[in-house]
Amino acid sequence: MARHTITLIPGDGVGPEVSAAARRVIDATGVDIDWEVHDAGLGVMEQYGDPLPAHVLESIRRNKVAIKGPLTTPIGKGIRSVNVALRRELDLFALIRPCKSYPGVRSRYQDVDLVVIRENTEDLYAGIEFAEGEPATLELIADIERLGGRKIRPDSGISIKPASIFGTQRVFRFGFQWAIDNARHKVTAVHKANIMKYTEGLWLRVAEEVSREFPQIEFEDRIVDNMTMQLVQNPQLYDVMVMPNLFGDILSDLCAGLTGGLGLAPGANIGDEVAVFEATHGSAPKYAGQNKANPMAMMLSGMLMLRYIGEGDAGDRLEQAIARVIAEGRNVTYDMKPDRDDPTAVGTSQVADAVVEALATSG
Ligand code: NAD
Repeated sequence: MARHTITLIPGDGVGPEVSAAARRVIDATGVDIDWEVHDAGLGVMEQYGDPLPAHVLESIRRNKVAIKGPLTTPIGKGIRSVNVALRRELDLFALIRPCKSYPGVRSRYQDVDLVVIRENTEDLYAGIEFAEGEPATLELIADIERLGGRKIRPDSGISIKPASIFGTQRVFRFGFQWAIDNARHKVTAVHKANIMKYTEGLWLRVAEEVSREFPQIEFEDRIVDNMTMQLVQNPQLYDVMVMPNLFGDILSDLCAGLTGGLGLAPGANIGDEVAVFEATHGSAPKYAGQNKANPMAMMLSGMLMLRYIGEGDAGDRLEQAIARVIAEGRNVTYDMKPDRDDPTAVGTSQVADAVVEALATSG
């Protein structure tokens, strides 16, 4: 059997606990993995002077595959997100977030099977920001007034939204190909082209052009506000949805909410050369160190990783084992119980025990 070397970034907050649980169940599939464990985030700032030290990036570039726990980004302190930096440094241009109903999950809907593919490098998320009152910001405001003929209040902060033909083409080509490879039938382009004509309008135009290269996949588009309502009313109508970075961030949490919550929502950041797997949820600091967080989102990210590295059979067995633990309903965390204070809820490590047991006893 092939041996794989994979970078593991445990993360912070609940990250180390859910990562340990995911590592245990991935190892329990029998796939031979040599884990290169590296810390990143605020915890390593003092030691390396950088929340994303060069040796961590080098490890991922060398191994081409990584799985990471969530990392905390302090709000409004001028510290850039390590998660966003990682995606940019490694040019991980597509973020795949499947949201699927597993029998036994307490949620408003059954039979939902949606996939959000989020463009990961452009849009308002590109990090091109100008702070209120800075000389560069005032210069930019003056230039915009001069070139665009529109007044901007001088006490404004500014975030820039780029959308390129290159970036849009590559994420739609990826999305259509992913739909074909995963036996899906439809791609929906999500946008706000009616208002932002030169960014969202470009996005929609390029999406329509790319769709003609893939006639075997049905194509449609939806304006994002309408899409949000339709997802809440009729999630079964949709299949693969490709969306710009910010809408993708918001709608992937919405879709996670339709299928059981953040504790069950996995993700894969994919580039041409490298892939980094991570749950949709953040570091949930209030539960850090309490053996409380649901590790299933991280385990399901591991399932996506196993499929990506060519271990599809192990990925399928891991998914079935997780599905069995969910269906049995005994060894699940607080967020999967009807009442959040349910005393029968188990902890993070007990869920891992149950999934390992289910793997051991599966056909
Ligand atoms: P969060 O996802 O950490 O938490 C949102 C809610 O969901 C909280 O009530 C939390 O307790 C609950 N929750 C999250 N994961 C859970 C799990 N596995 N099991 C059970 N309950 C769970 O989002 P937040 O509070 O907005 O963010 C906290 C920090 O995480 C912030 O610093 C943010 O920047 C960071 N973050 C990181 C990533 C990443 O690493 N990719 C993603 C999102 C947020």
